[in-house]
Parts: sequence; C-alpha cells; structure tokens
Amino acid sequence: MEEGEGVKSSNQPDIRLSSPFSWRGESFPPILDSESPDHLSRIRDLGIPYIFDIHTHFFPETVMKLIWRWFDNVNWAIGYRLPEKERVERLHHNGIKRFTTLNYAHKVGMASSLNDWTYANYKNWEGAIPFGTFYPEEGVLSYVKQAVDEYKFQGFKLHCEVSKLNLNHPELAETFLYLLEKQIPILIHTGTAPLPGEFTGIQFFKPFLETYPTLKIIVAHMGAHEISAYASLLSAYPNLALDTTMVFVDFLATGKIEEVDAAVSYLETYQDQIYFGSDFPNIPYNLNHPITKILDLPISDLAKQKILYKNAENLFFK
Ligand SMILES: [Zn+2]
Repeated sequence: MEEGEGVKSSNQPDIRLSSPFSWRGESFPPILDSESPDHLSRIRDLGIPYIFDIHTHFFPETVMKLIWRWFDNVNWAIGYRLPEKERVERLHHNGIKRFTTLNYAHKVGMASSLNDWTYANYKNWEGAIPFGTFYPEEGVLSYVKQAVDEYKFQGFKLHCEVSKLNLNHPELAETFLYLLEKQIPILIHTGTAPLPGEFTGIQFFKPFLETYPTLKIIVAHMGAHEISAYASLLSAYPNLALDTTMVFVDFLATGKIEEVDAAVSYLETYQDQIYFGSDFPNIPYNLNHPITKILDLPISDLAKQKILYKNAENLFFK
C-alpha cells in the first residue's frame, strides 16, 4: 500500500477481520475515510477547550514505515497512514490541539539521533510538546541533559518491550536521578500488552518505582494487561500516573474486556492521575473513537475534563 492511500476502500474486505487481536462486539468502529469528529460539541459542552493527547507518535519517515510494516504483518490497520503534515491536520481536525511527540530507540546509538530529529522538526507541528527518548548506553546522561537544557524537551518516552529495556539497568540510574531532580515526566510502555517482552510487567516496574518514588512517571496503556496492579500503586505514589491509550476502545490489543470494564472505576477514583492518550497515528480506527469512548463512560464530568485536558495542561504549563 502506498503512502497516503486509505486503509480500506468499500469494495475490499476489511483487513481488521483477520487480525490476531480481537475486537469487542460485532462491527468495527469507522476508519479514516469516514472520519466525523462529532465529539467536538460534546467536549465544548463539558467546558473542554481542546483535547490534550499525551500519547502520539512522531518518527522519521523511514523508521515510521518500518514500524507500519510490523503492524501490517498483524493486520493492525493503520488508520492514519498519511504524510506527516496531514497527520498533524487530522489531530487539529479532531480538536486535539496539544499532543506529545513520542518515539523510542530500537537499538544502541539511535536515541540521540531521534532526539536531534525531533528537535529539528517539532516546531512544524503546531501544538506539539517535544518529548525525547534514551537508551542504556554510553553517553546517555549527557544527551539527555542536552535534550533538557538546550532542546527544552518537556518529557521522555521509553518502550520496555520494543527496546528490550530493563528499567532497573544501572546504566540508567544517573539519568533517572537527573530527571527526578528536574521533575521531568517520563512516559513508559512497561506493560505486557499488546505483547509481553523480556523486561515488561509489574515485576520490573515496582522495584524501579521504589528506587525513584518521586519520579514523574506516566504508565502507557494503564499498564495493561496488569491494570489493577499498576493502579494499586497510585495512592501511595502521587507522582505516578497512567494513560488511557488504547484501553477503552473496541480494539482489544491492549485491553481484555473484563480488565477494561474493571478499570473504569479507577478513572473516577484517581482522576488527577490519568491522562488521555490515543497512540495516533498507529490506530485501527478514527480518532473520534477513543475520545467518544471516554465521553460515554459512566464517570463524572469533572473526571472527563481532567483526563481529556486539564491534567496534562497542569503537568506541562503550571
Ligand atoms: Zn504508543
């Protein structure tokens, strides 16, 4: 499939039918060719001026295409396989006026060049909050310091599964202490969904959190498939938070029905420690879908305001 081409056209069978990941219900939520952001009036009614998406991805085009190839192999239909400029327009079209620039290294020697690339480009993406990444390797503290001091990055992203990264690796200790002292947030994919890795899961995360209890951490995907284990840490660690990325949606790659249904109550109880995330552009449905799903949940309007907008606003601009 060529760049810019829609994922499905009406005369082709939906490739989502043959994904190894399952779906809730019988029918699929709409995908790009029928995008209609009818959530815009609903958020306005809730007093939400715009949505803050804490989990959106930006990679150099060559890396992004390699990542899309992986998704293609599991029929994970990429809803927004578009040139970068159009992707940013799609975010704005859906009322997402602020968003992060997450990326991560797959190997040694890659993280600092990703940071350089983000720095060189993020000003073209209106509303972008620049995030860096790092990796257990020589020089890690120095390029992280550069990303903070010179590039003014406002957070970092780590991916324990793809990067085969152990959060407890001694080579990362100085960097974590530095980010703790600076109180710069780190968004971490530490959970076992959609696929477990060598260093994913609560057994790696808990000792890490105990070592740096006041580090500002956002756990991606609410820690699925161990949401309750991660959520149980929230009251004891006020600087810990979770993002809703791909959890409350009909695609069940990062949520199981029972796990997701049980997690709804956490959104109310821990409403100050939850951020909305989408995983854009690598989602097999419209951006409208995850937003509407949050709006439809049986939680208070105040919790929805905090999750869709206010918490992230406070994190970066207070
Ligand atoms: Zn992601």
